[in-house]
Amino acid sequence: MRLSVFASGSKGNSLAVQGGSTTIVVDLGLSCTELESRMRQCGVEPDSIDAILFTHDHSDHCAALDVFHRHHPQVPLLATDGTAGAIAMRTKVEDGWTAFETGGEFEIGDIAVESFSVPHDAADPVGYLFSCGGESLFVATDFGTVTEPVRQAFRRANCAVLESNHDPVMLTQSGRPPSLKQRIHGRSGHLSNDDAADLLRAVRPPNLSALFLAHLSGECNEPHLAVRTAREAADAAGMRDLRIEPLSQNCVFSFEF
Ligand SMILES: [Zn+2]
Ligand SMILES: [Zn+2]
Repeated sequence: MRLSVFASGSKGNSLAVQGGSTTIVVDLGLSCTELESRMRQCGVEPDSIDAILFTHDHSDHCAALDVFHRHHPQVPLLATDGTAGAIAMRTKVEDGWTAFETGGEFEIGDIAVESFSVPHDAADPVGYLFSCGGESLFVATDFGTVTEPVRQAFRRANCAVLESNHDPVMLTQSGRPPSLKQRIHGRSGHLSNDDAADLLRAVRPPNLSALFLAHLSGECNEPHLAVRTAREAADAAGMRDLRIEPLSQNCVFSFEF
């Protein structure tokens, strides 16, 4: 399988997963021009995308949809009922959707897709586990608390894109309004570096070879802090060979596994 990340962070999120002859894109949270350019840098031709899946309806995950859908109306759009409805309302893109139930499993070409619910302040947010040829990719960002479905999917991953949004001390000391700090800290907010490390330590996925830390806050995190926190947890859990890298808002990134 091949993972290509076009952007990851609070200003925009989008990635592609390729397996066999199938290409699935998750989220479209950048300007369309920038996103199409980054897709082509990673060898993903927008017209060849088999499906676009959305995690939830926040604009950092669907900002390009309106323009992208006008350029490529044949590319199918998939999301949970709640997310499809909320994005359709937000973007005025009302056709092209196939809705699935939260927790639903289905196949798109050569890739098996499993969705799982995550706690976040959006209509009906999910994470995904993609499988092809015996390998699995876990993708979950934008959730405030680790739940059992998250643990179960993470346990099966060979490669994972996991939120490591903020350093709790940097968030507390930031100049952000108290209500926003509370939202980010909260059960339906965002996963901190420590939360991501706790998940790694608790689950210790037996086949995980690469962990990519996602949706890093530009103001309340530093890539080296996120990596150090996860590294310490991995080493303590006996996962010394695990590759750990931060994803970025501005650089594209590709990885084959
Ligand atoms: Zn987000
Ligand atoms: Zn969100």
